[in-house]
Amino acid sequence: MECEGDVQSSAKGFYCKLCDINAPNKLSLQEHLKGKKHQHLCRLRAKRKAQAENSIFVSGFKPDTSRTELAEYFQQYGPVSEVIMDKEKGVYAIVEFSETAGTQSALAQLEHRMDGLKIRVKPRERKDFALASKEKHDTKRPHISLEKLNYEICQAASVNEQMLKVVESFQLSENDQKARELLVQLLQEVFTEFLPDCQIVPFGSSVNTFGVHSCDLDLVLDLEHTKAVQTQGKKSEQTGENQSEDGRSEDSMLSDIDLATASPAEVLELVTAILLKCVPGVHKVQSLSTARLPVVKFSYRELSLQGDITINNRLAVRNTRFLQLVSGLDSRVRPLVYTVRFWAKQKQLAGNPFGGGPLLNNYALTLLVIFYLQNVNPPVLPSVEQLKNLACEEEQCVIDGWDCSFPSLPLRVPTSKNTEDLCALLFGFFTFYSKFDFPGSVVSLREGRALPITDFLGRDEAMTDTPEGSDQKQKQITGPKLGPVNILDPFDLHHNVAGNVSERTHRNFHRECCEAEKYCRSQQYHHKSAKGKSWGLVRLFAPHDGGSQSKDGKEKTLDISIPFRASILSESLRKELGSAGDAFRLHWFGKLCTAVETVFKDVLKCTPAEEPANNQHQTKSGKDEEEEVNNNKSPTTTGQQVTTHSGVKRPLPVEESPSSSSSPQGKRQRLDPCAQHPDKSHWSLAQRHQVWAGRRKVRRDLLKKSEESAEPEGSCSSIESRVTQCIIEKEADPRDLLEFRVDAAVVGGGESTKAVLKFSSTNDLTGHFQDFFHFLESFLPKMVDTLLAKLQ
Ligand code: ATP
Ligand code: MG
Repeated sequence: MECEGDVQSSAKGFYCKLCDINAPNKLSLQEHLKGKKHQHLCRLRAKRKAQAENSIFVSGFKPDTSRTELAEYFQQYGPVSEVIMDKEKGVYAIVEFSETAGTQSALAQLEHRMDGLKIRVKPRERKDFALASKEKHDTKRPHISLEKLNYEICQAASVNEQMLKVVESFQLSENDQKARELLVQLLQEVFTEFLPDCQIVPFGSSVNTFGVHSCDLDLVLDLEHTKAVQTQGKKSEQTGENQSEDGRSEDSMLSDIDLATASPAEVLELVTAILLKCVPGVHKVQSLSTARLPVVKFSYRELSLQGDITINNRLAVRNTRFLQLVSGLDSRVRPLVYTVRFWAKQKQLAGNPFGGGPLLNNYALTLLVIFYLQNVNPPVLPSVEQLKNLACEEEQCVIDGWDCSFPSLPLRVPTSKNTEDLCALLFGFFTFYSKFDFPGSVVSLREGRALPITDFLGRDEAMTDTPEGSDQKQKQITGPKLGPVNILDPFDLHHNVAGNVSERTHRNFHRECCEAEKYCRSQQYHHKSAKGKSWGLVRLFAPHDGGSQSKDGKEKTLDISIPFRASILSESLRKELGSAGDAFRLHWFGKLCTAVETVFKDVLKCTPAEEPANNQHQTKSGKDEEEEVNNNKSPTTTGQQVTTHSGVKRPLPVEESPSSSSSPQGKRQRLDPCAQHPDKSHWSLAQRHQVWAGRRKVRRDLLKKSEESAEPEGSCSSIESRVTQCIIEKEADPRDLLEFRVDAAVVGGGESTKAVLKFSSTNDLTGHFQDFFHFLESFLPKMVDTLLAKLQ
């Protein structure tokens, strides 16, 4: 039963490809080959092979043709043992003869006609169905458990070895890959029936060398040639030229849709129908025509996998080729990508289950690894621009106006001079991103360096010149959607591949990188435990516990961070900051301080408090009788102090040159002490009323009375100040004065750009300071963002 080809010698003795089993010696191999499992699979393979040889693929018959009618028709060529029809509508069928002779004579017949209609008869693709059935078994194999992985990597001798084991455990097996190829061929076969000359092209992790057992199957349906066929067909019709037989059947299949003018939704509808009705095993088909890239999602039962079909998405196919190339440039790329992907999955930072969502997706994460490898010293990987310059004439490629040229073979790219091992590179990855200023910069793989966010803020200028009414559109065209994490696509330079990432994900990513970096400094990371304890990657892969940051018992500091969020800023502020260059952080901080002050003074109606003696934050006893709760004295004059020097606490680094290996943002420069804008500020404030208590109800009542539409908390300063006023007026018996101090500073460059506001109570006789702070934690950032968004 053809067993010989199934066995190959391996590091562990012998390997049976059919059963995916290792045998340590000849004796156990013999036993395995005689065993039940192997024999069963051999028989199954023989059966599948015979089935494949005895079957034909039939299409073009009338939709209401029954299985019996097909069987009756083909009986004339030999006994028919089975007819498999697509589910609902008879669009194609597999006819299986009992003997090969039937297949041969049916195929030898030049023309087949049923009910006056010419039908198509083709050989069934000769696939190794034994392997396909093996795939089914293989892909349904439970994925490696964390316990098993931990056990295996604990046995490794070094972190380098552990990382190689990670690849080995997760990568798509040869069988996995073949099974996917078979499915692609099946889809190609079916789709060609309806859309002549179309191409089904796999992209993404199934083919980019970073795939894992369970990864989805991303496919592009390329309809460029089909469109040409259709256009040609129409021309012939108009000129009355003779149409080929093929042309006629193509016309009938394409008659419902004009590809040249069809909307994405219409094309997806057709794809959905073909998938549902004509591909056995396909279910849960869902069309998402309004997504950025319209897509049809489906599940394929046989392989238990999820698939995606997008239309004409040539950029994705090209960036997949790019990932393939990069993976071939240096053998360290794959282990790093697999390790980082698994780490990120464990920490719930990446892997949006259905594409959309607030986490990083695997594509974005892979780009982050590549970007890091472009920035180590010496670089492991060249920039995309450097690769472009190495491309020869045949490798020049422009898609949708973007230059996508790069060499097709790794051989053409000079080898890296970097000799760091995997263990050091992984450590470096965490260090690099724990210091990376995501909100203040844009990751550019094209240039291989971080670009200042100001280069992108200024792009708004292009918008004002656009014709009336086209603002929105132009905005999308002129620049990427900015967010907490900005990663430019290597080719489509107007696309932020991390545009979906939320502030929370960004914060978590930063926190986890810091934690990982700290751990990588320990002995436990570097050295195998002699006592069999977990070491190396094991601790890195510990799942995110969802717990608080203060698990080490540290007292929670009373800080509120307000990140720099380019996306929410008013247009005029974006422009202003865009032209501020390196000083944009200070400009932004200045505006932010004004907003903070407005929130405390106008919205929450706090009053200035006296500075504690010696500027120390001692608790004052007793209250200041002169202070009037509702007095509107501006804290700017009495309560606020600004500092224009940077010598205190954390100095703000400002980027100067973006190219450096040690710091993602390059060299740093301390603030100019004469700078017009301060990098620190503080306020001493007082509040006598519980302006944080019961706000929701007061807001609701207020809006009801005034018949205004409900707005979320913090989205309108005038509503919020009326809410405060109501609370103050209702409180007949004001409490003791609560006095507190806010110290604000801006940080960025060597870390995420943000304003950090430190709160301390200077007089809290009522014991309400914690409650007030808790309220401010969510209210203040929202309110400040609202004000910054409206700033003219
Ligand atoms: P997995 O499917 O295992 O999560 P993947 O590498 O296939 O990993 P996907 O997120 O499925 O990653 O993306 C598949 C392909 O789709 C990518 O290779 C890329 O071509 C394209 N793609 C995915 N996300 C984006 C994005 N945000 N922007 C641009 N293209 C993207
Ligand atoms: Mg994918």
